[in-house]
Amino acid sequence: EILVRDLHKSFGANEVLRGIDLEVRRGEVVCVIGPSGSGKSTLLRCVNLLEEPSRGQVLVGGTELTDPDVDIDAARRRIGMVFQQFNLFPHLTVTENLTLPQRRVLKRDRASAARIAAENLQRVGLAEKADAYPAALSGGQQQRVAIARALAMGPEVMLFDEPTSALDPELVGDVLAVMRMLADEGMTMMVVTHEMTFAREVADRVVFMDGGVVVEDGTPEQVIGDPGHERTRHFLSRLL
Ligand code: ATP
Ligand code: MG
Repeated sequence: EILVRDLHKSFGANEVLRGIDLEVRRGEVVCVIGPSGSGKSTLLRCVNLLEEPSRGQVLVGGTELTDPDVDIDAARRRIGMVFQQFNLFPHLTVTENLTLPQRRVLKRDRASAARIAAENLQRVGLAEKADAYPAALSGGQQQRVAIARALAMGPEVMLFDEPTSALDPELVGDVLAVMRMLADEGMTMMVVTHEMTFAREVADRVVFMDGGVVVEDGTPEQVIGDPGHERTRHFLSRLL
């Protein structure tokens, strides 16, 4: 479903991604771990073309996004992204935050956008906050709204970049529970995270990146439980 082939990305002379090969099959959850600066966010941003790769290919659902002739906007609509910062519009209610992109980007009419917003707020357990403004919500609730907003666009795959890193510890669990539900429903997901319990329990595969390359790619049992590389062991020992 997501296929990354020999992906390179440089910022000036700084080669941040140095040939990444990665596959996330339909319905799979792949967690990406690695030290700060290893290129995890850049990789996710290249997968939905928020950054233009310097070289290599990205395919999502069989469409090559790196093909110069592809309709980028259409392709990007198939990819949902959730960031560490929730980026909700503060002057819009929760429902309006969900309906605006549906109306603007997908040209849905008011009634369908509202219905799909309500369904997705229900999914993340926030139906009762439909008319609230973001400032009245906890960080965890805001992040669940951000997830619902992405889901309302009907994505084929979801990308998460440290979705719980900005949250107070007691709010992390609710967000991870929503992500776990999505995984159980069969959503294809690529998740950059430091939540090793989530990675162990939910991921089909864990990818350890360091210095812009994939150092290790395997099951959670392999990569977290019995890493084959010293760099992975060193990284994990510092997390625990
Ligand atoms: P963290 O765990 O801290 O989020 P990361 O693994 O996500 O780290 P990236 O954000 O992908 O790392 O950054 C990798 C490298 O790319 C860093 O050296 C960073 O300075 C550089 N970089 C990222 N984005 C840009 C940019 N827009 N312009 C220039 N350099 C960038
Ligand atoms: Mg990052």
